[in-house]
Formats: sequence, structure tokens, C-alpha cells
Amino acid sequence: MPITPRIDEMLTETVRLIVDAEKCDRDQMTFRPFEIYRGNTQIGSGDYTTCHTCRLVELGEIGFIEPEQRRGLGTRTLLRLRALLPGYHWILTPTKAGSAPFWHRMQRAYPDEYYDGRDPRGRRCRHII
Ligand SMILES: [Zn+2]
Repeated sequence: MPITPRIDEMLTETVRLIVDAEKCDRDQMTFRPFEIYRGNTQIGSGDYTTCHTCRLVELGEIGFIEPEQRRGLGTRTLLRLRALLPGYHWILTPTKAGSAPFWHRMQRAYPDEYYDGRDPRGRRCRHII
């Protein structure tokens, strides 16, 4: 399987996304934390676990500091992450009540790509626990 190097690139003119290098684990599972910076200040973070056998990705909560929320950065981050894994499906496990509207928008924009954590299509993977 391909091992993806560390990513360090601009999401906007002033916002940078840094994703840790992907390391292959047993069962072709990978875990990649990521951080988002405006200048030298960290403004957001998140992580995701990928099962390359089932082509499923479980996304951890993406968090941004309050002044950076609702500015489209979550959407930009997801677009970049999805481009890394074409054809994969994403399992959402939102825990913050405030993030539900965001995920509903993403699910409407990309039908069948984002599965709610209770969706049986996402639960068919026995590797991500
Ligand atoms: Zn799996």
C-alpha cells in the first residue's frame, strides 16, 4: 500500500494544514493526526483512522478555536483530506453538539460518502474499533 508523506500546505493564503506522515500498521490500518495553523498559531486539529482493507476512514472530531469557527476552514480541510483517499467512505462520530449542522451539510453535499457512526455501511469494518 502507498505510504503518504507528511503534508504541509496552504488551505488559504494564511492558513496551513499539516498532516503527519502515514505509517502502515497491522491490518493495513493507519492513524494520522493533523493540525491547522494561522501564521505560527495553532487554530485547529483533528485526526483520522483509515482502514485500507475496507476503504473506510473514521474521522475524529475536527476542532477549531472559537474565532476560527464558521469560516469554511473545516470544509477546506475535509476537501483536502478526501482528495488524499479517493473512493474511500468516511465514518463520522461527532461528539460536539454544535458540529451536527456542519456534518449534515457535508452529508448533503457528498451523498453516500459520509456515514453516520450508526450507519451499518460504516460498521461493516471490523478493523477500526
Ligand atoms: Zn476494515
